[in-house]
Amino acid sequence: MIETLGVIGGGQLGRMLTLVAKRMGYRVIVLDPQEHSPCGQVADEQIVAAYDDRAAIEELGHRSEIVTYEFENIDIGSVEHLERCGHRVTPSSGVLRITQDRLLEKTFVRGCGIATTEFAAISSALDAEAAAARTGLPAIVKTIRGGYDGKGQWRVDSVEAVRRAFEEARGAPLILEREVDFACELSVIAARGGDGVIVAFPVAENAHDNGILARTIAPARIEPNLAVRAQEMASAIGRGLGIVGTYCVELFLTRGGELLVNEIAPRPHNSGHFTIDTTPCSQYEQHVRAICSLPLSPPRMFCGGVMMNILGDGNGNHLAGTEALLADPTIVLHVYGKRHAVARRKMGHFTMLVDGPIDDAVLALASCALGKLSWR
Ligand code: AMP
Repeated sequence: MIETLGVIGGGQLGRMLTLVAKRMGYRVIVLDPQEHSPCGQVADEQIVAAYDDRAAIEELGHRSEIVTYEFENIDIGSVEHLERCGHRVTPSSGVLRITQDRLLEKTFVRGCGIATTEFAAISSALDAEAAAARTGLPAIVKTIRGGYDGKGQWRVDSVEAVRRAFEEARGAPLILEREVDFACELSVIAARGGDGVIVAFPVAENAHDNGILARTIAPARIEPNLAVRAQEMASAIGRGLGIVGTYCVELFLTRGGELLVNEIAPRPHNSGHFTIDTTPCSQYEQHVRAICSLPLSPPRMFCGGVMMNILGDGNGNHLAGTEALLADPTIVLHVYGKRHAVARRKMGHFTMLVDGPIDDAVLALASCALGKLSWR
């Protein structure tokens, strides 16, 4: 019987996961190097330790019946170690191995018969020319591992720029990806149970600002047949990975109407926050259900949603303007409990609940609502 969940990573995704797990009656222990982490504030206990601290990871394994993680840039050695010691980790190290590595991930997606942008590995400055010839330019150089929120990425439009990016990356393994001229960015949040059942939420439409998610619209404003195709692609990827838990597949819709998979996150995702306030069973609850072998819930939206991320701007740590924001009854505010609102740090989000079509007027209202907030 599962009573206690162990969560590696104490950020906002872990916090929202924990809030649901607590509602469902579980105990939660989180492991994170930072004391009073967003997740640690709401969990039963926090083990304060580095992700590669084997003794601490073992303690987490001993004290919980199942271990999960809230972001994928954790030490895979620790996850493998837990598995070798007989602890249950979900998603497994096999899933983590693929999704931690952009090259393995894109190769895997292609192996599922699903399109990605053109890509090539760069392991030395000498590879630059051949890689650029293979992908075409302009392109994006990305670190194969460890990048998130647009970190570890360089847009390049010449072989010389690829070489410069290689030097700047100081030996980190790199991938070159053809820049996609996209009409919009999409994501599919799905969950797969241990029995192989997969549920997929309505497709979300995402706008990024310099690599960081700024806004999600759900459902996406795309043709129904494309939405079904995107959900089918996400299901095929979940099946191929054999993942157990919630996951996210990010895609580009090209101007030519083609769907290309960009990346997979083996965990709940920022672009799935809308599911908390617009559906009866959020991406977090689906994750808890999947890892605890409970039935998944076929997604159903009560209404549409526009999710706006609230980022720090470096001007203070106190969020001002919430009174004005919450005067609008369609807005649900989520604040993550982070002490320092460093520039571009994700500090919270809100979801605007929308009955009816999400048109430019609705999006203008959402932007205006965000504009009411500031850091003091
Ligand atoms: P990623 O870390 O791969 O999710 O990239 C972050 C963001 O950078 C994406 O959501 C896109 O807005 C942009 N981006 C990444 N790769 C590409 C690409 N190959 N073509 C165009 N834009 C990209």
